[in-house]
Amino acid sequence: MNALSSIPLMPKVVRHAVRSLPAASILLTFVHLARDGFRGLSRLGWTEALLVLFLLVGLGASGLRRFRRSALGAPVELRDDLELGGGLIAAAFVVVSIGGGVLFPLVYLLMAFLVAFLPRNAGLTLLGAALVFDGLVTLGARKGGDWAGFAMHALFLTLFAGLYHSVLAARIMAARRAENDAVQKRIKEVEERARTFRLVSSGTQDSFSGMNQDEKWLVASVKEIEGAVGAALEVAETALRTHTCAAFLLASDDRSLKLYDCRSTSERIQRERFNAGEGIIGGVLKRQAPVRMNSPHGLKGITYYDGSGPQVNAVLAVPILEASGLVRGVLVADRVTHEPFSDQDERLLTTIAGEVLRSIEVERVMTYIRKSRDEKDRFFRAIEELNRAGSPEQVFIAVLESARQLGSLDFCAVTLVSEVEGKRVHKVARMTGVTATGKALEGRAFADNNGLVANVVRYGAPLPGRDIKAMDRQVIFDEETQIRGLGALKIFPLTAGDRILGTLVAGSRKKALDQDVLRMLEVVAIQAAQAVLRAQLFEQMERMATTDGLTGLLNHRTFQSKADEYLAQSKRYQRKVSLILTDIDHFKSVNDTYGHPTGDAVLRGVAKILRDKARDTDIVARYGGEEFAIIMPETDAKGAQVIAERIREAIKAEVFQTEMGPLKVTLSLGIASGPDYGYEKQHLIDLADQCLYYAKRHGRNQSVTVAQMQSNGKKLQIAEAG
Ligand code: GH3
Ligand code: MG
Ligand code: MG
Repeated sequence: MNALSSIPLMPKVVRHAVRSLPAASILLTFVHLARDGFRGLSRLGWTEALLVLFLLVGLGASGLRRFRRSALGAPVELRDDLELGGGLIAAAFVVVSIGGGVLFPLVYLLMAFLVAFLPRNAGLTLLGAALVFDGLVTLGARKGGDWAGFAMHALFLTLFAGLYHSVLAARIMAARRAENDAVQKRIKEVEERARTFRLVSSGTQDSFSGMNQDEKWLVASVKEIEGAVGAALEVAETALRTHTCAAFLLASDDRSLKLYDCRSTSERIQRERFNAGEGIIGGVLKRQAPVRMNSPHGLKGITYYDGSGPQVNAVLAVPILEASGLVRGVLVADRVTHEPFSDQDERLLTTIAGEVLRSIEVERVMTYIRKSRDEKDRFFRAIEELNRAGSPEQVFIAVLESARQLGSLDFCAVTLVSEVEGKRVHKVARMTGVTATGKALEGRAFADNNGLVANVVRYGAPLPGRDIKAMDRQVIFDEETQIRGLGALKIFPLTAGDRILGTLVAGSRKKALDQDVLRMLEVVAIQAAQAVLRAQLFEQMERMATTDGLTGLLNHRTFQSKADEYLAQSKRYQRKVSLILTDIDHFKSVNDTYGHPTGDAVLRGVAKILRDKARDTDIVARYGGEEFAIIMPETDAKGAQVIAERIREAIKAEVFQTEMGPLKVTLSLGIASGPDYGYEKQHLIDLADQCLYYAKRHGRNQSVTVAQMQSNGKKLQIAEAG
């Protein structure tokens, strides 16, 4: 703190006196000149000396004042210019008066200088004042009215001033035009780039065919566009001589702004989100109109610098407005100098805001194209995969895989619905993700309940309709099955024609599923339903071709090919293999007594016992009318007979309930095995058939192996011989 700053402000009167000093000195000088003062060196006295000193002090004061004001950027008033110019003219007249008329060109030069460098108003006023004063002096009584002299002075003064003024004005105009042209050119370039890009984007938005060839070009265009905002800001920076020129975009909540791009000398531009409702920017957003402000002492309400930003003296901010009237953000230009922004500056920045908006739009579209192209790629791959899937199992895998990839889902399941005794039963065919218990749900069946899956099947529409709050308490499958931690869920029906085959369950930990993802999942569900139906039909067809319609066992043709296959394999590895042929005893009489339909029912019953008693690895087939065949891999005659006896006992014990009352049958079986009797199919079949015939002849209701048949035959021969 220095001592001066503690002195109280000068009294008002004194300040006025000081402020009037330059004007007073000029006035006194002119009065003295008009009264023929300063006539030659020899006639200078104390009065002149004092006047000169006074004039110099006045000049110094007004010069200092003007210099300070322009340095601060404060507007320079007309009075300041007049005082300075007036003082200089007075001084020039004093010099001319002392030195003689030959020095008068000094006044011309001074005038030209003043007119050239001061604003037009000040220049012209000073010219007028000089003319009037010269008139007073030259035409004054003591000179006897030197009209010719005054006319010459007036002519030259006006000529010099006029010439200088017009030359300088022309040069300034030319410079401004050049600058303007440069700016316009830059804007055109930016616009051109944007236009080129819009062509590219509109051409590729819907048609993705051939995209790969053009990809490089597209990427290059995108790079161009991504630089377009930067280029627009560069134009603004150069044309408006800004300290900072920055584009801020509104966040989706409309409450905060985030820097999009900027050109600034300052390091302190706010890069984090900041409140959009405050300060000058808040005003622009509220009014949706440009705001221009300036103050030599620094502006308040500059919210886009963090902490200690620079002192901003002029700001121009325009909204980034969509055609629909929606505000997307604000484009700000500021200066730390004291030059306020003009109307023209505002027009330019508004144009640039439009350019920024277009670039943002283009970028948005590009991001969308890129994203949706990737999504579509995956989508089509998923559909392809689905269409390639042959078995239902493959379909389920493909569905889950594609659903998971498309929606980056955390939980995914396919359920199927079937009717068991007139009631719907749901079954989880396949799932990915984790249940609350950590156990997989695959194969889990549940009754038609009030859960979401059951309702989707019931109503054939995706559920839940809206986002639901208490997701964890939702029953998706059944009460016992809990899936925790899901934020969003959608269950689609698997609809094929008018049939609902089941559901596709899609769950995500995220709060919501994207609309695009939902649409794609819907299509995947439709495709999946088609694929499931196709696979089921295919399976059914295959079943029909290989199985017997009455008993559900493999048919004769399939038995033959299976026998070929199994025997070839057994032969290759010299493994044991057995073949059993069976025939129901006195079946003709069953038909005769109870009727053919009852005979069919008994056939189904016998087939079931055969299937139940045989092992899973055994092949059980309907060989002919009431004859069945079993192929037993890895089984010798002894082992085969154990099973054969089990079957025979079971059938013997079974009481078939018919409309005509209870009914019992017995079964005869013949067994032939490899490698004991080779692996030749027809040979083994013949041997088994012989055993069967042997069993029939020897009392029926028994199983006979080749060995038994042969040893008994020998015994018979021995007995006959004996
Ligand atoms: P055996 O103890 O000698 O075998 O006496 P059987 O009466 O069973 O004689 P056989 O095996 O020759 O008779 C076959 C009978 O089986 C002839 C036919 O009426 C009956 N049959 C064949 N296929 C079917 C069928 O699909 N349904 C019904 N209900 N009967 C059938
Ligand atoms: Mg028979
Ligand atoms: Mg029979």
